[in-house]
Amino acid sequence: MNLQPFIAGLPKAELHVHHVGSASPRIVSELAARHPGAGVPRDLDGLKRFFTFRDFAHFIVVYLAVVDLIRTPEDIRLLTYEVAREMAEGQNLRYAELTCTPYTSVVRGLAIEAYTEAIEDARVAAERDFGLVLRWIYDIPGESGIPAADATLEYALAHRTDALVGFGLGGPEIGVPRAQFQEHFDQARAAGLHSVPHAGETTGPETIWESLRLLGAERIGHGCSAAQDPELLAHLAGTGVVLEVCPTSNVATRAVDRIEDHPLRTFVDAGVSVTINSDDPPMFSTSLNHDYEVAAGLLDLDEAGVADLARAAVAGSFAPDDVKTRIGAEIDDYEAAARRVSTDTPQP
Ligand SMILES: [Zn+2]
Repeated sequence: MNLQPFIAGLPKAELHVHHVGSASPRIVSELAARHPGAGVPRDLDGLKRFFTFRDFAHFIVVYLAVVDLIRTPEDIRLLTYEVAREMAEGQNLRYAELTCTPYTSVVRGLAIEAYTEAIEDARVAAERDFGLVLRWIYDIPGESGIPAADATLEYALAHRTDALVGFGLGGPEIGVPRAQFQEHFDQARAAGLHSVPHAGETTGPETIWESLRLLGAERIGHGCSAAQDPELLAHLAGTGVVLEVCPTSNVATRAVDRIEDHPLRTFVDAGVSVTINSDDPPMFSTSLNHDYEVAAGLLDLDEAGVADLARAAVAGSFAPDDVKTRIGAEIDDYEAAARRVSTDTPQP
């Protein structure tokens, strides 16, 4: 069954997707035009070649090249607004929690006040123009250690916007023990932010346990290695902690060797709540729609099963209740309409 058209039209929510990591070749071309001295190609074909995923080292090169193009508040605003446009128009997203790493912009000289104003301006415009509701997660770039964690906490607490819903932890896991950030997560959680660290992407289940016990994780970014630990799977299933699964990203970064080996099915069979996400879509040559197709293949889903994946993302989100209700109703209506079409159409 070709699920592609159904997935493309399905109203969706996404919970694990990075701000800078969502910059498409089209958006980077606009940013490169604003900063001709940066040495990033402006022509779209050249950029598409530059973006073609080769290996993880090349992904970092692309990512940092984009980071280096974000220099002014207008760059941040343009990036955010155009990412929102592509989410709404390309992936039919109605809601997204975008993981922002303000630290990498502030260390390059942008004031946090200007950063916040720029993303907020884009958020309001995106909701008005595209009907996309955006919320923010600020993540600590773990490789930058305690100074980055201190700064990110300060941005979250002293420069908070109402649209900030979560506090995260990204970057490499190896050599970045979770325990060192316990105090930061304690304070963020005390201020009402949800705890959503990356864990178990490239390290074993003990990192996920640490994130649950020390950081109070309510959702886990990736969580691949949970599949190795039946006790952890049972714990996740029992507590309702959601895994933000990013299938294509996991193969691109070698967290999983081949897509056929992805543990998504193990999670579902164990009763763990999963959501499907695209992580850094243009940089991993994917899209949320594509990751839904991949997930549908791994789980042998039909249209109803795919619609349930979209419902799981809404349920696992930190969206306001009225937004959850509205998107849930849209998914129901869409699925019912698709069913009517398929029963009206005579099958050969
Ligand atoms: Zn991520």
